[in-house]
Amino acid sequence: MADRTPTSVLISEPQLQDRVRELATQIRADYPENVHIIAVLKGAFMFMSDLVRHLGGSVSLDFMAVSSYAKGTTSSGEVRLVKDLDTALDGKDVLIVEDIVDTGLTLTYLQEILQARGPRSLRTACLLSKPSRRKIDVKVDYVGFTIEDKFVVGYGLDYAEQYRNLPYIGVLG
Ligand code: 5GP
Repeated sequence: MADRTPTSVLISEPQLQDRVRELATQIRADYPENVHIIAVLKGAFMFMSDLVRHLGGSVSLDFMAVSSYAKGTTSSGEVRLVKDLDTALDGKDVLIVEDIVDTGLTLTYLQEILQARGPRSLRTACLLSKPSRRKIDVKVDYVGFTIEDKFVVGYGLDYAEQYRNLPYIGVLG
């Protein structure tokens, strides 16, 4: 078990659900045809699953896993590809779905390796953004919520593999 517990709710379940629905409407308007979603495991699993439920229409999915934070709340600054995609990207309209953009290192790495695979277009949706922590000016096309520099858990995000199942975003105490 993790040794810290979330003390306060930063973004409630209804707030998350409303915003994800809005993002889905916006994304669908921008992708009248198929959108090929790449969810970044593990943190984006819940955001992705709610998002695609509201997208309707034509959606294809693939998953990637990277590791940036080993254990704890500070970044190692190192990004490692843990699981690669199952399908090619050439000619596809690709949308990366990420949980949070913090320093921007992970997303920059992902955008670079995916762009090199020849998608027709490549955009990014992040549920959360912490702009005050940015080290690289990475482009994020759809942002759910901009938050302060706090370590958050829940709705897919973990601390030592705990709390991913919370239906809200909380701040660790
Ligand atoms: P970046 O490379 O932008 O610094 O970090 C991105 C990754 O760090 C995210 O995909 C996420 O796994 C992790 N991360 C950054 N901030 C937080 C946070 O507040 N809470 C949790 N649980 N993970 C975070």
